[in-house]
Amino acid sequence: MTTILDAVPDDDELGVPAARLRSAELERQIHERPGRFRALTGDRPTGRLHLGHYFGTLHNRVRLQNLGVDMMVLVADYQVLTDRDVADRLAEHVEDLVLDYLAVGVDPDRATVFTHSAVPALNQLLLPFLSLVSVAELGRNPTVKDEIAHSTQSAVSGLMFTYPVHQAADILFCKAGLVPVGQDQLPHLEVARTVARRFNSRYGPVFPEPEALLSAAPLLLGTDGGKMSKSRGNAIALAATADETARMIRGAKTDADRHVTYDPVARPEVSSLVLLAALCLDRDPHEVAGEIGGRGAAALKAVVTDAVNDYFAPIRARRAELALDRAHIRRVLRDGNEWANAIADDTLKEVREAMKALY
Ligand code: ATP
Ligand code: MG
Repeated sequence: MTTILDAVPDDDELGVPAARLRSAELERQIHERPGRFRALTGDRPTGRLHLGHYFGTLHNRVRLQNLGVDMMVLVADYQVLTDRDVADRLAEHVEDLVLDYLAVGVDPDRATVFTHSAVPALNQLLLPFLSLVSVAELGRNPTVKDEIAHSTQSAVSGLMFTYPVHQAADILFCKAGLVPVGQDQLPHLEVARTVARRFNSRYGPVFPEPEALLSAAPLLLGTDGGKMSKSRGNAIALAATADETARMIRGAKTDADRHVTYDPVARPEVSSLVLLAALCLDRDPHEVAGEIGGRGAAALKAVVTDAVNDYFAPIRARRAELALDRAHIRRVLRDGNEWANAIADDTLKEVREAMKALY
């Protein structure tokens, strides 16, 4: 019998193969008419962003923004409380997140950066949306099961089970059609699509069905071989120093086979390191692995360290510079929140109209 604790979602369970195919088709459509699309995506302010975020979603956000897609970037502050009792140093984490965004190239003149707790009408959508999903559906979500398994809380909160529906509100309040995410988010995208469909059929057409846009690295592994994650102590932060980066990579888990190959299924840890180097060098991972070959894990780690440090040096320098002007960070959020509120107020009005609840 599978218990919640040993449930580790695999690619098929998450629907990764189908999402990869669909992402390729979406890319084609985006390139044809980028102005047709609005994208929304975000992160929990639980700590500094890491390389998994960068190659899983941040890089895509900046690319879409630069192509001319209307980009909404959400700091998911309420969702910090899904797996902990207290949101420690929240304001500091929120500002750090915005700093990371700006450092990688999110441009507040072209993208909207906002915190969902500052947008009341967005949160109000949660109530009708919760009525559209069953408790059994919420309990089946593989990503929620995985997060419960990694949570240190003694009891699972109601927010943990319902946050995918909150996320549906995050996406649907601005009618985003595209959601550039890592593969752990695919089940949540399904919830958002289901909510949109059921709302429309019950009350009339209001919401488009959003679609996931996966990157070339929809699941980057951390130094312990599990999903690289802010809360799991296995992540290389975007803002890490070159020395910290070297130390983390030196300690990364590999396997007993000295010959380096790229084989994500049979050798996930080694392959994730190879992929990281390939992404930073903009090269094919098989080629990178082939060049290292019999020189072993130590040579692989040296290549990865140099590639990461070279790639992120300008981003890290920009981040240090931006960190000197905290007032600018707060201004970016204030402007973003104002615009997000205007959008959310309009959508909530439409929702209440559709539900015949305007008095
Ligand atoms: P936490 O441990 O606090 O949940 P996290 O590292 O899982 O942090 P989130 O804020 O939950 O980060 O995720 C933000 C976005 O980054 C999501 O789109 C998620 O899919 C993506 N992402 C997170 N980790 C990875 C990873 N290791 N590889 C690819 N994408 C990732
Ligand atoms: Mg997470």
